[in-house]
Amino acid sequence: MTLYRASVLLLLLMASQSQALPVPDTEDLLPQEESTEDLLPQEENTEDLLPQEENTEDLLPQEENTEDLLPQEENTESNDIEDNTENIGEKILASNNQSAAFLEEGDLLPSSKRNAIKCGYNSCLWPKGPDGLVSIPYTVSRDFNSYENGIISSALGSFASKTCIRFVPRRSERDFISVENQAGCFSSLGKQGWRQVLSLNKNGCVYTAIIQHEFNHALGFKHEQTRSDRDQYVRINWNNIIPDMAYNFEKSDTNNLNTPYDYTSLMHYASTAFSNNGHDTITPLSPRPVKLGQTQGLSDWDIKRINMLYGC
Ligand SMILES: [Zn+2]
Repeated sequence: MTLYRASVLLLLLMASQSQALPVPDTEDLLPQEESTEDLLPQEENTEDLLPQEENTEDLLPQEENTEDLLPQEENTESNDIEDNTENIGEKILASNNQSAAFLEEGDLLPSSKRNAIKCGYNSCLWPKGPDGLVSIPYTVSRDFNSYENGIISSALGSFASKTCIRFVPRRSERDFISVENQAGCFSSLGKQGWRQVLSLNKNGCVYTAIIQHEFNHALGFKHEQTRSDRDQYVRINWNNIIPDMAYNFEKSDTNNLNTPYDYTSLMHYASTAFSNNGHDTITPLSPRPVKLGQTQGLSDWDIKRINMLYGC
């Protein structure tokens, strides 16, 4: 009996332990399950983004829908860019390391047809249609997957929600932008005619702010730090610039549209762009501390300038 009772006690003890053990396990699991559940809506949101972005492409004129997308774009951006503190200029220049030799100002394809410097206010603007919208056809290389396609069309949706620019999938138009996975992030300035390449390398350029930066070049905008009156607003530290890259800081005879110098423009490079020693190459002369460039997309002045240049 003693052995039997001992066995029973042992069994009871094991049973009680085995019952007791799952309790903390289960309790431990619960928060994980909850956190997993917490994740699900985000994943669903991400999945929701893709069809919505596709819809956005189709629904570009409907500003409300596009505006609804904006917070999701920010989410996408913050998810995509882990090192979000890095200025997009830095990202672009890093991606273009191998391509810098043939690019102007770091990410502009030289134009063989016209004086690109004056491009901003003459013949290389995209035409406005009778509906008052500037529809710009584009294609996206099959190199890009559906997720990357979603980021691209979502980034372009911001132009539609704030300006009269509509980037639309090409049907059979002669002049169009061809988004390709070439060696870097770069674009032509303004409309070039026929197929013009806008490169978004898959490994460094498919971010909302970079996409918008390159498409803004295709609308005709150069970099903020090379505009004609920049010396009133920034100091170029020539001694800190990689000598072969100094030409990227030459001023341009730009059409500034009577708008103020914008330190926060999406088209402004970071303070250490093309630095050969880690020190600043561009120092703001603003009496107040300012950060050059940003990663949040088109600034208010970027948007106003698009509307001014295209008469939106
Ligand atoms: Zn650029």
